[in-house]
Amino acid sequence: MRIDKLLANRGYGSRKEVKSLLKTGAVKVNDKTIKDGKLHINIEEDVVTVYGEEVHYQEFIYLMMNKPPGVISATEDNMHETVVDLLEQEDRLYEPFPVGRLDIDTVGLLLITNDGKLSHQLLSPKKHVPKTYFAKVDGEVTNEDVKQFAQGVTLDDGYETKPGELIILKSGSTSEIELTISEGKFHQVKRMFKAVGKQVTFLQRISMGSLVLDETLELGEYRELTEEELEKLK
Ligand code: URA
Repeated sequence: MRIDKLLANRGYGSRKEVKSLLKTGAVKVNDKTIKDGKLHINIEEDVVTVYGEEVHYQEFIYLMMNKPPGVISATEDNMHETVVDLLEQEDRLYEPFPVGRLDIDTVGLLLITNDGKLSHQLLSPKKHVPKTYFAKVDGEVTNEDVKQFAQGVTLDDGYETKPGELIILKSGSTSEIELTISEGKFHQVKRMFKAVGKQVTFLQRISMGSLVLDETLELGEYRELTEEELEKLK
């Protein structure tokens, strides 16, 4: 990798700023001062320092966010704040993106990464990665709904969903449920309830594959995945 790219990636400024930094003689590779940004270094072996401080390179970033409402699951949007806007600048340098989409009003677990391969694995319809949601639903969710979801329901566009596992946590004028599905059609949870004549009023994703929302994260907060979480997910 080129030394100017490495330094830009680690937050030492734009390519132009990095060029000026290199000119000052602040950058050393294996104790030798380097002024040419085009120099290729081996990120596994070469030791790069800036003003004597070692620069560590990390290719991928894996963040778990507790997505707040009112924010779009995208990298850019003209109208609304995006989940990427909520990240610290040093994390944005990795050019991460959300893995899949949650609706603007949906909250909860969102993985944000720049690892395209992992993202593809988690989103590929062939992999059937289960996703579990907690929802509040207007009206009484019944055992009949549980049976229907277990068989699959027909959405408003005629699509027959795969079976979903519905667990009733509380049933009444407002019900509380957990639903696990292994697909990710547009507005799927809301549309599955619509198919049985009910309306979701609150939706939170609590897990995706082996990854479970860290309940200590406040809405809008995020943290890096632990090594264990990452290993299980891959
Ligand atoms: N299903 C929905 O309806 N909305 C989401 O955000 C996620 C799943």
